[in-house]
Amino acid sequence: MDIPKRHSTDKTDIRRRLPSVDAVLQASDSLLQHWGNSRVGMAIRAELAGRREYLVAEIDLDVSVESIVESVRSKLAAADDSSLKPVINLTGTVLHTNLGRAVLPQQAIDAMAQVAAMPTNLEYDLASGDRGERDDHVEALICELIGTEAATVVNNNAAALLLVLNTLAENAEIPVSRGELVEIGGSFRVPDIMQRSGCSLVEVGTTNRTHLKDYKQAINTRTALLMKVHTSNYSVEGFTAAVDESELAALAKEQGLPFVVDLGSGNLIDFTAYGLPHEPVTGSAIEHGADVVTFSGDKLLGGPQCGIIAGRKDLIDRIRSNPLKRALRLDKITLAALSEVLKLYRHPEKLAEELPTLRYLTRDPSDIEKQALLLAPALAENLPSAYTVTPQVCLSQIGSGALPVQNIPSFGLAITASSDAQLRVLSDAFRQLPCPVVGRINDKKLLLDLRCLDCDTQFVEQSGKLKELLA
Ligand SMILES: *Cc1c(COP(=O)(O)O)cnc(C)c1O
Repeated sequence: MDIPKRHSTDKTDIRRRLPSVDAVLQASDSLLQHWGNSRVGMAIRAELAGRREYLVAEIDLDVSVESIVESVRSKLAAADDSSLKPVINLTGTVLHTNLGRAVLPQQAIDAMAQVAAMPTNLEYDLASGDRGERDDHVEALICELIGTEAATVVNNNAAALLLVLNTLAENAEIPVSRGELVEIGGSFRVPDIMQRSGCSLVEVGTTNRTHLKDYKQAINTRTALLMKVHTSNYSVEGFTAAVDESELAALAKEQGLPFVVDLGSGNLIDFTAYGLPHEPVTGSAIEHGADVVTFSGDKLLGGPQCGIIAGRKDLIDRIRSNPLKRALRLDKITLAALSEVLKLYRHPEKLAEELPTLRYLTRDPSDIEKQALLLAPALAENLPSAYTVTPQVCLSQIGSGALPVQNIPSFGLAITASSDAQLRVLSDAFRQLPCPVVGRINDKKLLLDLRCLDCDTQFVEQSGKLKELLA
């Protein structure tokens, strides 16, 4: 028996129902203006191919030229969306590495835009008309703020460490305490960096206890330097012993070795003055006898991503002239931002106001509570009734390895739902908003810590789209 051909899957019939590429092109003037012939042509062909499949599968759909043009327009516009975009960080982690760490002050943003828009004297001495040094734009400021003779800057603290170790310890040994073989999130491990720098790690002491005699025993003719790594993202507690900077500095001096300290998070000021937990100040490592310190620009310093190397002039000069420096150097935009951020440190009284990182960290919990009380009903109104919004006390973290065991009291919005799945759907919807909102799911709640929220109106307004996203 002949199986009759189904009318709607007939190839010629489908082709007849869909408009031709040319017909769509003719109705696409504004698209062609905006995106050009080849992109629009490709998008139309892809759209028609997609619709043809629907028709073959006997799924009914609009095949009008207008609907095709509209669909092509929205797909082309969506493809132009930047992948890298601002988000609202309500995770409670102020310096969130995955969210780009420090938010820059306006002065830095303006300076970045200025040097981006015109040629600059990046490596040009305006006084003499001769070649200049890129480091000149920040070196004096760094030295002024932490009390060193010299300084140089590179792409990040990992690069700083790589450059320092490669310059001062290639083909030689470095004793490091087993308690300081740090791994930072995102697969940065001190032992790996050391290996790639061309030096050999000699582990000394134990995980919880390392003594000066352990270092002494490890020193031989192949030893290049002594090093201390700030255990920034964990703390070993209980029966512990570590050799402090002064003792290690004295031993290095006695042995004629440079003493290097990887500080991780570089903070230039005494945090306790702002009511925050104590974190070692960069300058104190120098006072304790460090010959070279390295730290990040975008952790507690609150600046752009970079690595700062500061210390003795003879050592910094050697580090600067390592050919690897060229591969790790900073660009003009980052230098402009760093310079502005460092200048803010000259006025500590205003710092908590001007530097976003410090402003977030020092916010008064009662202020955040007020914000939560205001925002809770506004957000609740924009959510389906299945969700409940409650202001709630919570704890923020500094992040990026600073003060790992100390949290700061904060306030947030806790959203509950009848199931975990429903909560996940909401958390996904928050991330699909025009300015994605990132919170954290904890203890059957979606918690939005408001410490870093400084765009309340935008937050509430765009939450009006949540119902639609959840539908
Ligand atoms: C964060 C950190 C690093 C890496 O710094 P980046 O700027 O992320 O490259 C290295 N060492 C320590 C101790 C750190 O805390």
